[in-house]
Amino acid sequence: MRDLISIIVPCFNEEEALPIFYEELATEISKLPCDTEVIFVDDGSKDRTPLIIKELCAEHEGLRYVILSRNFGKESAMLAGLKEAKGDYAAVMDADLQHPPRYLSVMYDAVKNPPEGEHPESAACYRTRKGGKPVGSLFSRFIRKRFAKLSGIDIPIGATDFRLVSRKMLDTYLSLCESNRFSKGLFNWIGFETKWIPYENEQRCAGRSSWSRSGLYGYGLEAILSFSDKPLRYGAALGAISCTLALILAIWVVIKTIIWGDPVAGFPSLFCMILFMGGSILLFLGLIGRYISKIYMETKQRPPYVTKETGSARKHE
Ligand code: UDP
Ligand code: MG
Repeated sequence: MRDLISIIVPCFNEEEALPIFYEELATEISKLPCDTEVIFVDDGSKDRTPLIIKELCAEHEGLRYVILSRNFGKESAMLAGLKEAKGDYAAVMDADLQHPPRYLSVMYDAVKNPPEGEHPESAACYRTRKGGKPVGSLFSRFIRKRFAKLSGIDIPIGATDFRLVSRKMLDTYLSLCESNRFSKGLFNWIGFETKWIPYENEQRCAGRSSWSRSGLYGYGLEAILSFSDKPLRYGAALGAISCTLALILAIWVVIKTIIWGDPVAGFPSLFCMILFMGGSILLFLGLIGRYISKIYMETKQRPPYVTKETGSARKHE
């Protein structure tokens, strides 16, 4: 029996990109040696995206859609699609052709027919720097390096959400019940082997990215906070180092005063120290606050998304 691959496509304001995307996806799907179902997830778009999704579903077989009640963010949209997946494998890809559909067959092959000795339960693509904006690439390299160091979870620089997972991996992923999700980290945390496939960075086919630089920074910070308590430990270490330095300085000041009788010098350095300590305390208080807010949000146990409508393709006679 042929395998079924569920292809999940989160969409947020993608009215321009969707028709171009589907045309290319359909061409690649027809070449795959397996059956497919495509699940479009509309993540509360403000444009005609839900209408276009419904039109596509009415015109073509093997398509389904999930419409969320508002914008919950890409992670939630991906989760909504993955929960709907019925396939033996599930793939997630962007709707803007930055995840080239031709790599679906490469990823499927990597998981289905791995070389001797490899047992991947998932295959994922990572962008090589070629074609990427230099600043964006540097920034994401920085975030990824920090992430790997702070969280202890190692994902390649340029790792994307473009991924194909086996049913075993998918079921494990869905059994993780935290609502604040960073899927790249969670898939890595599961521990099953992932085959990483390089591809050249592609530009968006139409429309605009919904990420701003500050949004990306926030996403990176969220990712670190959801995976590790190392920032708190660094805070404690900084506190310990500061106390030791302060003690050494105090002894030095006492000795200096006794020997040279010079008690009033050093106001500028004192000012800098107070500023530094005040800043550090506020910074780490803020970090603790972020952890507490995460605990607060998790204890509410709200669902990560709310579904407004689901539907499937009209069957052709
Ligand atoms: N997306 C989404 N919800 C959001 C933001 C983005 O479902 O709140 C989708 C978007 O439609 C696209 C994918 O996630 O299919 C990647 O988004 P985008 O291209 O804006 O991000 P970038 O490629 O710039 O990282
Ligand atoms: Mg994109």
